[in-house]
Amino acid sequence: MSNKPHVVVLGGNFAGLGAAQKIREFAGDAVRITVIDRKNFLLFVPNIPAEVFEGRDPAKTLSMDLRSTLAEDDIGFIQAEVQALDPDAKRIDFVPSERPGAAPESMHYDYVVVAVGNRLAFDRIEGFAEHGHTCTDFYYGNKLRHFLEHEYRGGPVAIGSARFHQGDGTKDIKLYGGHAFPSAEAACEGPPVETMLSMATWLKEHGKGGPDKITVFTPAKLIAEDAGEQVVGKLLEIASGMGFHYLNETQDITRITHEGVEFANGKSVEAELKLVFPDWVPHDFLKGLPISDSEGFVVTDVTMRNPKYPNVFAAGDAAAITVPKLGGIGHAEGEIVGKQIAKDVGRMAAEEADKPLEPVVYCIGDMGANQAFYIRSNSWFGGPDQVLKMGHVPFLLKMQYKNLFFKTRGKMPEWGLDASKLLAEKLFAA
Ligand SMILES: Cc1cc2nc3c(=O)[nH]c(=O)nc-3n(C[C@H](O)[C@H](O)[C@H](O)COP(=O)(O)OP(=O)(O)OC[C@H]3O[C@@H](n4cnc5c(N)ncnc54)[C@H](O)[C@@H]3O)c2cc1C
Repeated sequence: MSNKPHVVVLGGNFAGLGAAQKIREFAGDAVRITVIDRKNFLLFVPNIPAEVFEGRDPAKTLSMDLRSTLAEDDIGFIQAEVQALDPDAKRIDFVPSERPGAAPESMHYDYVVVAVGNRLAFDRIEGFAEHGHTCTDFYYGNKLRHFLEHEYRGGPVAIGSARFHQGDGTKDIKLYGGHAFPSAEAACEGPPVETMLSMATWLKEHGKGGPDKITVFTPAKLIAEDAGEQVVGKLLEIASGMGFHYLNETQDITRITHEGVEFANGKSVEAELKLVFPDWVPHDFLKGLPISDSEGFVVTDVTMRNPKYPNVFAAGDAAAITVPKLGGIGHAEGEIVGKQIAKDVGRMAAEEADKPLEPVVYCIGDMGANQAFYIRSNSWFGGPDQVLKMGHVPFLLKMQYKNLFFKTRGKMPEWGLDASKLLAEKLFAA
């Protein structure tokens, strides 16, 4: 066994895979790296809605083998359920999950990167299993596809989010030169905006109506507020012009019934199709740890390092600083983790490694009929940008992004984002 520092990355989806690859890129052979994930593939979540509304099984095109991907960079992989993290003992407890019945084991780390995402808490929404739909994974995506193809009779549609419970882990964080960290009522509202537009196209294409059948709702004052007021203002203007109905400040979903969705503010909406996104809740094993905030999100500074335990990092949805919960932000965080660990092992200068996280809401959402919307905004965090574009070019970019991700096994070239920006914002501005 090598005596190099052992970096254990918990989770192997966008943030975990990205962090592991960046650690290898920047720290080179100075470290040994192991990724632990309960499943052995990467689930490319953002394109599930596009596949489902086109009537395709998302499982056929949206998974990437983790073990062989990581092996390309000499990164070890263990398929296991992480059960506990002890930051004082520097120990991970896990149970191998390839087959049931495995005995619990422990592993020592020198550095740990928590990238286990969150629990999407559908189990906290009463009536969801019987009456609700969503498109956050292959199972639910295919359930919705089946419902649309075989059961949906053309009745009203309700689309929206449950309330997000942000912890206190961001209270000391300042972004973009001093802006206090904002607080969100919804974890990630790109998906409801995306599905409302795709659903409207689906209704039209199937001769079942249009936007006026759809009510979109949000627990917040403004849907997708993290995209910036100007962007959302424009989106809402376009949406109301098309005939969508809009309900805000619903506070939370209390129940889904056969008839519709009931909200914590006492109101309700009638719907045959109830397409919802739940609360993003930290995993139980993170709750109450000295590295976690009041909800269980892992506390970090703007270099993704835990202030009390400098050998503990977090990236992606599991990190308190990742609000809204976006894979794009997790990817940027993985890169910072790579640089920090490279700095610690003497492979990168502090000047380069210590550049702080400057989060950007970067979202390309499918609208159906080969069209998409493109948002690039940092104004919610105190930055200067708010850009919204719609049309065929953003759709092309969304599909190309996925193809490039799979082709490069997650190692998106530096020019990928710049090229998207140039195409969407300059050359083919809608
Ligand atoms: C419908 C939809 C559309 C979206 N569209 C976009 C978009 O356009 N752009 C964007 O930036 N973001 C988008 N997002 C958000 C994006 O999917 C998430 O932010 C991203 O997946 C978070 O990455 P992550 O690696 O932090 O967590 P996850 O993707 O949740 O991955 C966590 C990993 O950890 C593993 N894991 C969890 N617990 C354990 C455990 N105890 N033991 C072992 N392994 C464990 C899981 O198996 C998983 O592989 C969308 C989300 C949804 C639901």
